[in-house]
Amino acid sequence: MEASLRRHDTIYVGGEWIKPSTTDTIEVINPATEQVIGVVPAGGPEDVDAAVAAARGAADEWAATPPDKRAAHLAELRDALNAHRRTAAMLITSELGAPVRIADRIHVGTPVQVLDSYVDLLATYEFQERIGHSLVLSEPVGIVGAIAPWNYPLHQAVAKVAAALAAGCTVVLKPAEETPLNAFLLAEAVHEAGLPAGVFNLVPGTGEVVGEALSAHESVDMVSFTGSTAVGKRIGEVAGAQIKRVSLELGGKSASVALPGGDLATAVKVTVANVMLNSGQTCSAWTRLLVPNDRMDEAADIARSVVARYTCGDPLDPETRMGPLVSEALRTRVRREISTGAPQGAELVAGGAEPPDGLDRGFYVRPTVFSHVRPDATIAVEEIFGPVLSIIGYADRDEALWIANGTEYGLSGAVWAADQDSAVAFARQMRTGQVDINGGKFNVLAPFGGFKRSGIGREFGRHGLEEFLEYKSLQL
Ligand code: NAP
Ligand code: MG
Repeated sequence: MEASLRRHDTIYVGGEWIKPSTTDTIEVINPATEQVIGVVPAGGPEDVDAAVAAARGAADEWAATPPDKRAAHLAELRDALNAHRRTAAMLITSELGAPVRIADRIHVGTPVQVLDSYVDLLATYEFQERIGHSLVLSEPVGIVGAIAPWNYPLHQAVAKVAAALAAGCTVVLKPAEETPLNAFLLAEAVHEAGLPAGVFNLVPGTGEVVGEALSAHESVDMVSFTGSTAVGKRIGEVAGAQIKRVSLELGGKSASVALPGGDLATAVKVTVANVMLNSGQTCSAWTRLLVPNDRMDEAADIARSVVARYTCGDPLDPETRMGPLVSEALRTRVRREISTGAPQGAELVAGGAEPPDGLDRGFYVRPTVFSHVRPDATIAVEEIFGPVLSIIGYADRDEALWIANGTEYGLSGAVWAADQDSAVAFARQMRTGQVDINGGKFNVLAPFGGFKRSGIGREFGRHGLEEFLEYKSLQL
């Protein structure tokens, strides 16, 4: 065990740190060292009951709190989280393995920015409108069960919590087993910010116990989930049986489409960076790069030289761009996926299934690129959730579109073309929730979410707020 073991033996319910109903625990592993760095409670159904009761108890008053007062609370939370920025980044590096060079800026900076965006939105958002002779009220949906994954743990928790609280909902958060430590810090920030008791509650535990209990709870009005499509389907079934609202942010197999005439070198470079970010553990990663058939070899050469900059290493080293994967189980799965590439006709450009040199500890996988990948190959179809890029050739624009849309997912994408208009024209035909045009940047105010099996609903900005609203029409 490492010297700095973080041991939590309480959960956050009704504005207090209380003992959970069970003595079960979850060990948190540092995926770079494979050592136990933390222990947290594994809550039980009774803890979910207590947290939901606390959220219910706080709901009416929070819903009746005027938007400017809710904004003031969210501003306090933003500042409290920002004050713990270094600790939050350090925790995410330790429990996820995120390199320090992205931990602060992306893993902690983005959630602070998202909280700030909801403070701003509440200053202008109209919670009622006149439609003819009706007064239409936008009211909070009620008690929200927020179930978060481990890949951008704080970001994905805050995406739910900030929007739900802004809407006037109260929340019970269940973080992922792999990365609960940053969620305890978020709860501490909530406490320091002085949010009313019961507005935010934290129940760590397993998906099978706490996740199921939350999504099946009769007093939970909505489940907001980010994670795998398999678990999203399960949550949809459980919630559907109770006609409970769900918002699901699921997997992806997004396409980055380099159209003829576009800047191929930039397209390849940015796409490689996009896939390798966070060791490929990004639901919106552009894991398929589509290039004209006659430029396949050129694209592969560029990718080989770009990916050479991504060597695996200690996430604490400021130079490291590629940390480990989150768990041994994921590493095993990713390496198995990589090993399907060559037998199905793909050419290995860089990386591969063997462990990287010189690292005898840690769940590392080589940054891997395949060229000449068939659109129906396993590595072109399945969400790998590791640092693996598949370069796929196309004959013409129609085929590019057919391949881009040819998966069950539709979360994100990119188009690279000679001019913005032709890139936008192509993007309009893509069945996907987000498309970056010639390198357009992430926008925390724009709706984020999936078409097809990538999910239901949107997060961030006004659209993210509206996920948590019910409408009531008064005919005058
Ligand atoms: P996951 O199993 O879907 O986990 C996401 C969250 O759901 C975790 O908090 C998990 O708890 C919880 N959960 C699991 N089973 C549940 C159930 N029956 N009811 C309610 N909640 C439940 O995802 P994962 O195991 O972390 O990763 C598996 C794969 O999902 C990845 O390899 C990747 O393909 C995909 N993924 C996608 C995203 C995304 O952003 N779209 C994010 C993460 C993962 P536990 O922690 O206890 O399992
Ligand atoms: Mg899991």
